[in-house]
Amino acid sequence: MSNTKYIFVTGGVTSSLGKGIIAASLAKLLQSQNFKVTIQKFDPYINVDPGTLNPYEHGECFVTDDGAETDLDLGHYERFLNVNTSQANNVTTGLIYQNVIEKERKGEFLGKTVQVIPHITNEIKDRMRLLGDLGDYDIIITEIGGTVGDIESLPYIESVRQMVWELGKENTLVIHLTLIPFLSASGELKTKPTQHSVKTLMESGISADIIVCRTEHELSEELREKIALFCNVKREAVIQSIDVDTIYDVPLKMLEEGLDTVVLQRLQLKPKQNHDLKPWNAFLKRVRNPKNLIKIGLVGKYVELQDSYKSILESLIHAGVENETEISVVYLHSEHLDSKNLDTKLGPLDGLIVAPGFGERGIEGKIMAISYARLNNLPFLGICLGMQMAVIEYARNKVGLKNANSTEMVSNCKYPVIDLMESQKSVINKGGTMRLGSWDCKLTPNSKSAIAYQKKHINERHRHRYEFNNEFSDKIFDHDFIISGTNPETGLVEIIEYNCHPWFVGVQFHPEYKSTVLKPHPLFKAFVKASLEKNLKT
Ligand code: GLN
Repeated sequence: MSNTKYIFVTGGVTSSLGKGIIAASLAKLLQSQNFKVTIQKFDPYINVDPGTLNPYEHGECFVTDDGAETDLDLGHYERFLNVNTSQANNVTTGLIYQNVIEKERKGEFLGKTVQVIPHITNEIKDRMRLLGDLGDYDIIITEIGGTVGDIESLPYIESVRQMVWELGKENTLVIHLTLIPFLSASGELKTKPTQHSVKTLMESGISADIIVCRTEHELSEELREKIALFCNVKREAVIQSIDVDTIYDVPLKMLEEGLDTVVLQRLQLKPKQNHDLKPWNAFLKRVRNPKNLIKIGLVGKYVELQDSYKSILESLIHAGVENETEISVVYLHSEHLDSKNLDTKLGPLDGLIVAPGFGERGIEGKIMAISYARLNNLPFLGICLGMQMAVIEYARNKVGLKNANSTEMVSNCKYPVIDLMESQKSVINKGGTMRLGSWDCKLTPNSKSAIAYQKKHINERHRHRYEFNNEFSDKIFDHDFIISGTNPETGLVEIIEYNCHPWFVGVQFHPEYKSTVLKPHPLFKAFVKASLEKNLKT
């Protein structure tokens, strides 16, 4: 058996308390002491993965190198830790049941009645141990999605209880994240909901070792002692997680609170080195002291929910820091853009991003915005659908292919400049069937992309079914509008650029999935740089 230690993070009182950020922050502190750490997320919904979920339901779908469509928390893990996650790092109830039912159909249960306990919980535990059993990690942090007390969470909570029992207290630890609400009428912070959620956890046989309290106001010493007493934890195991301006400050707040110290003591581990947080601190210092401020427009149809574009927003922060620039994101709903308001809405911007997406809703707004950016020298980055729309815009407005379109929007359009990939034509099921994950791309020398990357070959992550239709290559691409990246095996167009422009790049892939705090993405850096130059000139 490996010596891996397991930390479980559960949540109480309400959802959206930021378990993912706490897990990532703790992992960062442990990593900075030279522990090998990874994080996995277990989600209690029945979708086999979040790939089929509308972004309004669950925020962005994050894609890993190995092509898993995962929860957006995995994005936080990668951005904080600067290490890749994989299919194994995200498990859902749907996936667990799918595996158990497949085993049942194969007859693997030898005539037994298949039940939640032990079969579903055994499958959950196997998945919880999967990464640990590789022997590559000192510590595995497992975040349990949802809120304690939910019907859906019960098998996970029971599995945590069994893991603690099987592996022993010295190898396991439970962190419970709760909310300490502030009642403004009486001016008081209230601990009762926390007491109740810890009690609910206890009813399932789990005693939390550490309570992390989300709060808008400082917790007094008295309150901390009260929480410790009623929640049955040591005083130093009551950790305050106060609201901060930037999520990247949370690891330092947790350091101040001693979260990692309590964790290591409880797991009987000694730090392997003093915290090395120099690069992290340097990043934060630059986040706090920008020299410039620029406005970037983000055109999409899910802009009401910022979680829908989480990785793009974080990539902009990383690239902004590299350029010593604060970025104010202006959300532009693609369905609300029209020829009358285009100037007013896009005129004040320094750069424009057209976001990924699916389906025809809002695409004409996207095309109009791209046209404006192309003709007004506004730095532009089109991502996936955004790149496809840039091709359509050019085909329609410059090449003269009237009504050019994607067959995703109009299946029998006259000029299908974007078309379903050949390999997708036989695909019937929607889940997990797109062109996913990391694919190679060869860059055209001296293009804006090659300059940004300073490389000839790159790998980027994908999530799409449609592609540029190479039958239109000769008609559309010329000296001004170029292909600057292709897949070396298939010739699939990965990047397009408009040359008569300061910076106009469209990418079929998703650069936002690979930007981390310590490694901002080259394309975002170059895009922000071009936007800053525009800002400084005007
Ligand atoms: N809907 C487009 C496709 O499937 C673009 C996908 C995306 O933006 N991720 O090709």
